[in-house]
Amino acid sequence: MIGESKPTVLVTGGAGYIGAHTAKALGERGFRPVVFDNLTSGYREAVRWGELVQGDIRDEAALGRAFTEHGVQAVIHFAGLIEVGRSTQRPDLFWDINVAGTRSLLTAMQTHGVGRLVFSSSAAVYGQAGRGPLETIPEEAPKTPSSPYGDTKLACEWMIAAQCRAYGLTGVALRYFNAAGADPSGLIGEAHEPETHLIPLAMAAGLGDGKPLTVFGDDFDTPDGTCLRDYIHVNDLASAHVAALEVDLPAGAFEAVNIGTGAGHSVRDVVGAVGRALGRPVPHSTGPRRDGDPPSLVANASRARSLLGWEPLCSSLDEIVRDALRWEGQPRYGAGSRGARKT
Ligand code: UDP
Repeated sequence: MIGESKPTVLVTGGAGYIGAHTAKALGERGFRPVVFDNLTSGYREAVRWGELVQGDIRDEAALGRAFTEHGVQAVIHFAGLIEVGRSTQRPDLFWDINVAGTRSLLTAMQTHGVGRLVFSSSAAVYGQAGRGPLETIPEEAPKTPSSPYGDTKLACEWMIAAQCRAYGLTGVALRYFNAAGADPSGLIGEAHEPETHLIPLAMAAGLGDGKPLTVFGDDFDTPDGTCLRDYIHVNDLASAHVAALEVDLPAGAFEAVNIGTGAGHSVRDVVGAVGRALGRPVPHSTGPRRDGDPPSLVANASRARSLLGWEPLCSSLDEIVRDALRWEGQPRYGAGSRGARKT
């Protein structure tokens, strides 16, 4: 993209899990990342590649100042709420931060002539939509989100697409499947508060640091009755963002691209892989389904290959779990940001 010189890229939510890994990937590619994050769920210690600007994405003026002060030429937008279960209880909050936040970002970009956006979307835009459990999902599949979280991601995509048509913005929405794993350096990794994701919870249960794992439902229409997901290593996701920034697209184009491996793993597969990596079984029991969970979400990832020239390089379940385990063995993010714990 954008000629020969490497532009400054504002990474909203760059102190969070995927954002921090993407800032690292940008730095390694010679971009200059500037992280914009309010640190409500991100960590100061995760900002190691580029400066931190502390601010809220709903604050259009703060975004505008960041654009001007840092000479920002492109944005990768991660900032937002992510917990599917919580979105069913607090949809208003999700619409405010995810949708109104994206609206504020788009207006600030328009005002300051920032013409390139990569948006952190999600496979949650698809829902189940009558798809069989073993069918993969192409980008044109019906969009029937099964949670307010998915609704907000879809609404943001629509807003971005319209903004591209209206103002010549160039946008790429990456619909990720299940981000997992950690950078092998052990410097950054997954640290949500509260943690709701399967792999860190299974690992904590296996290590004896957390409660025994509850498998959310084993009566789905899937081969072993538990949900199927497409787990993708966070560093593969990070490289997809760099590819989306670099791909040659005309002004006004909007593209939505799945980022996954095309392989589905059940909750029981993951519990087994974590147990193998730990050398002992993960204590678990089966509980009821979690609100908003579709039975299966597995990508058809061919468009990422053809459009972005991207493919996953480190996303086998065993490699993901191995890197996640290395991260679990590191010191927790310290008291520097929010007195935060890692899990
Ligand atoms: N899951 C589970 N127990 C947990 C957390 C997650 O059984 O304690 C299941 C969840 O129902 C889903 C899969 O693991 O089928 C992946 O969930 P996660 O929250 O990691 O990611 P999501 O698919 O919601 O983005």
